[in-house]
Amino acid sequence: MVHDLYQEIILDHSKRPRNCHSMADATRQADGYNPLCGDKLKLYVKVENEIVVDVSFVGSGCAISTASASLMTESLKGKTREEALKLLDKFHELLTTDTAVSQDLGKLVVFCGVRDYPARVKCATLAWHTLKSALSAELKEPVSTE
Ligand code: ZN
Repeated sequence: MVHDLYQEIILDHSKRPRNCHSMADATRQADGYNPLCGDKLKLYVKVENEIVVDVSFVGSGCAISTASASLMTESLKGKTREEALKLLDKFHELLTTDTAVSQDLGKLVVFCGVRDYPARVKCATLAWHTLKSALSAELKEPVSTE
């Protein structure tokens, strides 16, 4: 059963989240909070030359929000900022519409079952909304002392 497999992946990532640590040399970071469920996370992103070279997070939340953050960090490495934002749109579409599941989403398709539970959509998208604010924030140029 394909849905059992999906559930297994979500459970695995919620119990053993990947890239779950702070990052000292992150170039961007943002905080996310989902008051409906109490999910909280802090996201660290390292962007070099418009490429997302590293992503990590810390936080506490339900199984869905933790698994989503974990799978998101795995999906983003090596993507450009623009590709990352496009993936966000596709993921949002997967959760909120009845469109056919896009294979571009890779492992992220495991969340397609969430579309049947509108109350959990915010859990699954929390990490992604946080990513958007991290990537959208303008970088401050280092102040020149010359
Ligand atoms: Zn939640």
